[in-house]
Amino acid sequence: MSEHPKYLWWNGEPVAWADATVHVSDIAWSATGAVFEGIRAYWNEEQEELYVFRLHEHMQRLKDSSKMVRLPIDVTVDDLIEITVELLRRNGSREDTYIFPLVYFGGARTGRSDPAKLRGDLLITTDPRPSHLGTGVKQRAKMSSWTRISDNVMPPRVKNISNYRNGQLATYEVKLDGYDVALLLGPDGKVSEAPGACVMFVKNDQLITPDPASGILESITRDSIMTLAREDLGMPVIERRVDRTELYTADEIFLCGTMAEITPIVEIDRFQMGDGGIGPVTSELERLFTEAVRGNEPKRESWRTAVEASA
Ligand code: PMP
Repeated sequence: MSEHPKYLWWNGEPVAWADATVHVSDIAWSATGAVFEGIRAYWNEEQEELYVFRLHEHMQRLKDSSKMVRLPIDVTVDDLIEITVELLRRNGSREDTYIFPLVYFGGARTGRSDPAKLRGDLLITTDPRPSHLGTGVKQRAKMSSWTRISDNVMPPRVKNISNYRNGQLATYEVKLDGYDVALLLGPDGKVSEAPGACVMFVKNDQLITPDPASGILESITRDSIMTLAREDLGMPVIERRVDRTELYTADEIFLCGTMAEITPIVEIDRFQMGDGGIGPVTSELERLFTEAVRGNEPKRESWRTAVEASA
């Protein structure tokens, strides 16, 4: 298997991998202002079809991010959907795939501080990325000593590349301390999220998660899980401020996000969750989520874009 896809999308056309080069002086400052998305597509072996998960919502969020950092792109959400599907077809993607659209201020070593001149260049890459749903993966978490960025500092709502330094610092800290994953508190001392994933917990048959003003990215997976819990499990879902110590006595905790999918957390700050295994609500949500993303649940068809991989 080749180590890279044949094509990527770059500024209006498919470009062969080897031809997609920029001058070295374009990196650095242009990267700090770049916004991006992370999207998964799931391969359904039986149907020989690739389904992109909630592509419309991801591309809308890309447009929102680019608007918030004043780096406009002159393509619509519908264009972005079409471009992505066409790229996946061109690359012959027939396996679980990660799609990475990036909007950056390219080709200019000056002018980045003049908002009138800002215009985003668009790059989309696709790479094989297996899912870990159903593999039984479990993680041990630790509350990081770093604080989550906040809306009037570096807005977490924007998927800006620079924001991710915050999560990296937290991840490096807790990994060096022997844990798998970090959690972060916001400046108000309330639970915010993990680097790159939202946090949810089960207590007294309710699903609870920090609200959108808790310094989180408004996660599309989080929205999907809340819908599955409400509509398929008939479970009350509550979005509110969350104290750190609430997590210590939760029945179940998991992370959710495009990369994290559903990742059960079995220990936080050396407090064990339940019996240390994957809880029943987490398992059931993981099952429902898997059916939805893989294209086995007709009820969730509106969440999927079929690539028509076999056409
Ligand atoms: N928080 C952050 C900081 C993230 O980068 C991500 C991944 N995009 C998430 C949460 C989860 O969001 P989503 O479910 O939309 O991928």
